[in-house]
Amino acid sequence: MSAPTAWTVESVRRALTAKQISARELTDEFFRRIGERNPELNAYLALCPERAYAQADRIDRQVARGASLPLLAGVPVAIKDVISTAGIVTTCGSRILQNYIPPYDATAVTRLEQAGAILLGKTNCDEFAMGSSNENSAYGPVRNPIAPDRVPGGSSGGSAAAVAAGLAVIALGTDTGGSIRQPGALCGIPALMPTYGRVSRYGLIAFASSLDRIGPFGRTVADVAAALTVLAGEDANDSTCARTPVPDYTAELHKPVQGMRLGIPKEYFGAGMDPAVRQRVEQAIQQLAQLGCTIEHISLPHTDYAIATYYLVATAEASSNLARYDGVRFGFRAPAASLAEMYRRTRGQGFGQEVKRRIMLGTYALSAGYYEAYYLRAQKVRSLIARDFAEAFRQVDLIVTPTSPVPAFRLGERTSDPLQMYLADIYTVTGSLAGLPGISVPCGTTPEGLPVGLQILGPHFEEARVLRLAHAFERASGFSS
Ligand code: GLN
Repeated sequence: MSAPTAWTVESVRRALTAKQISARELTDEFFRRIGERNPELNAYLALCPERAYAQADRIDRQVARGASLPLLAGVPVAIKDVISTAGIVTTCGSRILQNYIPPYDATAVTRLEQAGAILLGKTNCDEFAMGSSNENSAYGPVRNPIAPDRVPGGSSGGSAAAVAAGLAVIALGTDTGGSIRQPGALCGIPALMPTYGRVSRYGLIAFASSLDRIGPFGRTVADVAAALTVLAGEDANDSTCARTPVPDYTAELHKPVQGMRLGIPKEYFGAGMDPAVRQRVEQAIQQLAQLGCTIEHISLPHTDYAIATYYLVATAEASSNLARYDGVRFGFRAPAASLAEMYRRTRGQGFGQEVKRRIMLGTYALSAGYYEAYYLRAQKVRSLIARDFAEAFRQVDLIVTPTSPVPAFRLGERTSDPLQMYLADIYTVTGSLAGLPGISVPCGTTPEGLPVGLQILGPHFEEARVLRLAHAFERASGFSS
């Protein structure tokens, strides 16, 4: 049997259909790998073997009957622990939800399972998805499988590490300001943030509702496209989910990229960028030109304000969303003599430092007298950032940038300096604020062997175009796994 790290959606399907392996054996193999590697990586927080084997047996019965298999038949998947799974503890990487068992599945989870995927377990993440390194989890950091003394990126670090280490074929992450793309870049795998509203968020535990999105990690762009085909589309349970028709993203992958106009924004190549990252990204742009794309130098003038804008909008929304954790309805409760004391202790002990920092920042930004100066102003700048992109997309088809200014940093290197940590998202928060789809694809490694990611951003609902260029680049560059 081939090494599990080599499995893709396509190779799983072929092996099952040819009866080279059963879904049960494949599941065994992934749990064996998890048993071997997870103690070191800490990518999974919980496993659900009963549910996995029940689904595997269903697939094996379909194979035995000779039935036509659904799109993700037998594909082992991992789910970020901010996404609800019925009957399986869902902690959000937080102590405050340490025993929380959701009564229902998120739509994204239902759709994966309906398409035949095998749910292996829940992955570690920064607490409530707040972070860029996965060091803000109450359950310990995740290690980068490429370099275990380094971070996998965050906040969906467990999902990225699981796929990169061959402990899942596809994983779900969430992206609010970079949390899918940035760990994808640091772990060296494709990672897609769909357009705001493309994928249902029913069952996603909210961080910042005007920014949060669910999206897939895979070993190849084709796997990410297959996952999106299953995940995307309207949902009666989520009014923020768009009715826009869903194309077959896999079929769209093979259309030509020749003649595509690619914008390279000058603001994304400034100070603070690691020279090895710059070199890899510049090389990638040359390769795209060789594929017949036209390279155009553009400007997105409000980029400089993106981090400040993001950290106002995201913290304001977080302070409101996290008000529900009061020790009464969910998870952890600290005993106390009075109600007020119980709230104080529960929240004091249940939340970690970064979450508390965000709640305080957000509460301040929303408070009377400051609302206009901070939150309202941030919303206006957000519109300007979105307008920059809208104008750029009149001139170009896609925008190409680095995903992260730096490759994976060492565990502990940035934890004492929150601002330094926030800067890890400097190239990703803009697309988040503007609601655009974006992917990170591997574009080589630094001299130390650390992965570098190339970000491709597209206009709203143009995932097919984004994936097409990513796929063409992956083939031409040979950086696919
Ligand atoms: N790193 C950013 C933050 O800490 C983005 C997180 C995310 O996308 N969930 O908010």
